[in-house]
Amino acid sequence: MHTPIAQRSKLPHVGTTIFTVIGQLAAKHQAINLSQGAPNFPCSEALVRYAHEAMQAGHNQYAPMSGLPALRQAIVDKVEALYGQRYDVDSEVTVMASASEALFSAVTALVHEGDEVIVFEPAFDSYIPMIELQGATPVVIKLSAPEFAIPWDDVAARITPRTRMILLNTPHNPTGTVLSAADVARLEAITEGTDIVVLSDEVYEHVVFDGELHHSMSRHPRLAARSVVVTSFGKTFHVTGWRVGYCLAPQALMDEIRKVHQFAMFAADTPMQYALARLMAEPEHYLGLSAFYQQKRDVLVDALAASPLQLIPSRGSFFLLASFAHLSDESDSSFVQRLITQHGVATIPVSAFYRDGTDQRVIRLSFAKDEATLRAGAERLCRI
Ligand code: GLN
Repeated sequence: MHTPIAQRSKLPHVGTTIFTVIGQLAAKHQAINLSQGAPNFPCSEALVRYAHEAMQAGHNQYAPMSGLPALRQAIVDKVEALYGQRYDVDSEVTVMASASEALFSAVTALVHEGDEVIVFEPAFDSYIPMIELQGATPVVIKLSAPEFAIPWDDVAARITPRTRMILLNTPHNPTGTVLSAADVARLEAITEGTDIVVLSDEVYEHVVFDGELHHSMSRHPRLAARSVVVTSFGKTFHVTGWRVGYCLAPQALMDEIRKVHQFAMFAADTPMQYALARLMAEPEHYLGLSAFYQQKRDVLVDALAASPLQLIPSRGSFFLLASFAHLSDESDSSFVQRLITQHGVATIPVSAFYRDGTDQRVIRLSFAKDEATLRAGAERLCRI
């Protein structure tokens, strides 16, 4: 429909998210889909039953703005058991309508116009637009294949009086890296004595491989005191479509975040919160998740042994990176397009996670898929 209304985009450089673009192309070509980080296998039957029972019991109206008390209690108990930090159940945890909403609410509440936010690329594609929507400046620090290590000296050098926030993600999407104890020590030293908030996207907190430790900010008291920790039930319980996540923060930060959350969403879905609170009482679901996904990672890595792709080790998350730099000069986007149209397998070009399209000829494969899909996708990738 034509509109006579003149308008000015707030995000003039942003197009449709890569996950939608590739998803549609994959569907059109009936490609095996190793692109989106979303399980193609079912969640626990009990979880569905719990949600159904909550609906049947009449829990179909608004939940409390901050989240169902039983769920908040389950969250703070889990966080204390795993990471040692005790968050106040009433004032320091908020259930959100997805981790995305939590990140968005935190940035909106805490970042002012003219502030600077340090963000590392490759970055999940929502981060920089979220910052720009506040009239703030993303200060981008690029990480390079194959290590994607954080250059902490550069971080220290880029801090100014305007630096309001450092946005981190561990385990990392798309690279599969995890923060180490040394990274955390540098972060702690660099932020000491400043008013910098650490916004820590930890949606893959339970997906860390080879016995490594997840360095949640809530494991490190001095960092926890300046951090907003965001995580997701979708990733943990195989229900990415439920859109329920949460964030943790000291009360002074959380008070501000809730002011945004209450007007953006007010509350997350009620029956889902009842169901998740019940499943949280069965810790084996999240305690076993690293082993569950490590097995999937290994199936994919083994099945790709005969492919010409050069794999970059994945230490956590749902993702494995693969380089084709030695195979072709084409851009990662055209390589991905060719894999879909000619070979019937969908992946994500890593340039999509760089604002300026930095192309290192690396693609991202998701192993959050059943074994048959992983094997079938890998078989096709062996024939490229
Ligand atoms: N986080 C998932 C991924 O990186 C899905 C993102 C999305 O589809 N918005 O693949």
